[in-house]
Amino acid sequence: MPPRILIAGAGIAGLALAQGLLNHPTKKFKVIVFEKDAGPQGKSDLFLTINARWQGHHIQVYNYGAQALLRLLPPHLIARLSEVFPPHIENECPSALVIDESGKQVVVFGGKQAKDVHELAQIDEKKTAWIMGYRPDLRNLLLDGVDVRWSKQIIGYEESENGVRVCFADGTEEVGDVLIGADGVNSIVRSQKFPNSYKQHLGVTVIPTDVLVSASLAKRYHAFAKHAEAAVFLGPDGHTLLVTTRLHSITQDSATFYRMTLQYGFPSAETNYTVDSPADVVRDITNFLMKRKRGELTDVLLELWKLARTKDVKVGGMAYVPPVRRALYEVAGIPEESKPSRVTLLGDSICGMSPFRGQAANIAFQDAVSLCRALDNYEIEGFIRCIGNYETEIRPHDLKAQIASRYRALEMTLFGLRKWPVPILKPLSPFIIAATVIYVGVWKLETAAQSHPPYDTDPRNPKAYFNSKLKKHHGEH
Ligand SMILES: Cc1cc2nc3c(=O)[nH]c(=O)nc-3n(C[C@H](O)[C@H](O)[C@H](O)COP(=O)(O)OP(=O)(O)OC[C@H]3O[C@@H](n4cnc5c(N)ncnc54)[C@H](O)[C@@H]3O)c2cc1C
Repeated sequence: MPPRILIAGAGIAGLALAQGLLNHPTKKFKVIVFEKDAGPQGKSDLFLTINARWQGHHIQVYNYGAQALLRLLPPHLIARLSEVFPPHIENECPSALVIDESGKQVVVFGGKQAKDVHELAQIDEKKTAWIMGYRPDLRNLLLDGVDVRWSKQIIGYEESENGVRVCFADGTEEVGDVLIGADGVNSIVRSQKFPNSYKQHLGVTVIPTDVLVSASLAKRYHAFAKHAEAAVFLGPDGHTLLVTTRLHSITQDSATFYRMTLQYGFPSAETNYTVDSPADVVRDITNFLMKRKRGELTDVLLELWKLARTKDVKVGGMAYVPPVRRALYEVAGIPEESKPSRVTLLGDSICGMSPFRGQAANIAFQDAVSLCRALDNYEIEGFIRCIGNYETEIRPHDLKAQIASRYRALEMTLFGLRKWPVPILKPLSPFIIAATVIYVGVWKLETAAQSHPPYDTDPRNPKAYFNSKLKKHHGEH
């Protein structure tokens, strides 16, 4: 009988692990994924969605994430990867621009150019390279062939010497050899396994949504974004609007459209956003955008936000994410002092981080590879030892990624400090010229007054002694 591996959560992390275990090169596993949503379409009653995930339509996959994906997937799914990450087309620019309110680029995070996901995976891990893909298509692909039990909300588990018993909200139970909690940032498995581990609010609220943009508006947008796959538009008071897109168009009613994910972000201590109407959110963001410097760029951003859907509409085969406020969290990694057991964690449940670097799913793919590799030796070492090896391997790796994401958040949101070169001489030049004129003028006036009779030899004049000596030298009285 192959070992039964139970996975909590059919998100990107849980499904990638399921694929890796099902396609394990040497071992056979019985893999079952339990998901609380009723089906792949999500649980939203407001929106007709196709595999929509709240994080938005676009997902950035780096070279190291692509390498991991290629190790997890079977050949027939690898062959479909170019549908998820379409090859770059002419003019497309795999970079992320940061653009100020006047439309000027203030920093560019450049990536090494790769034609497609296969070429991307060849690029050395130390180099930065990525490709933007479509999250719903990636999830669809990862669901292929996986035994997912829908409407199965895990409420807890019991661990014994011989296995794990998982308990569901519907009163049923399931037993397995190992349980992997890939149940996201609010993980139930984590809260039972590490009751004291922290989930740190990052003080940032984000509102991702997806829009279908006409060719003419896309052209006006790209006048600023220069065909970059990601652009962050800085606004006042630490507000930002991140736009991710590809130049691959879709045709609808013989018109051309482009899919864009808009992610509005702003600093906020608020965490309780449970009751939020998409229409109110769109109105609030519009008001925020109106505070920006007026001009073409702000007009374009306002028009993009106007396209955010507040009703249940399916357009162009695209998954729409309702614009809802979400507080961002960072999740503590596996504690140093923890003792390995038959239960472990993967993805956001153990390595949640700010999305500013777009890397958490990539880290989850890498960790899934580590877990598959660690389970290679389960017959000799036993499950607990294998899980211990996995946790030891991912602990420093995940921490490094979280620190990198904090650093990128600092770079982008600035916390009031600009990291990149700010124009100093140009805006200050009128003041520098005025100060020079005044300084030279006052100095000349003072010198003239000090040398003018009868004050030139007045004892109160600091130059009187020098002036009388000079007069004597010239024979004056
Ligand atoms: C706005 C935004 C943009 C991002 N962009 C990128 C990017 O470009 N690149 C990148 O690498 N990363 C990105 N990330 C991070 C990435 O989206 C996440 O790391 C990834 O989605 C995490 O996947 P996951 O499977 O761990 O968690 P989730 O996607 O949250 O999935 C968890 C699943 O578990 C289910 N679940 C929860 N509780 C239970 C339960 N009790 N019982 C059963 N099922 C349960 C949930 O319904 C869900 O389906 C972004 C994140 C955000 C917020």
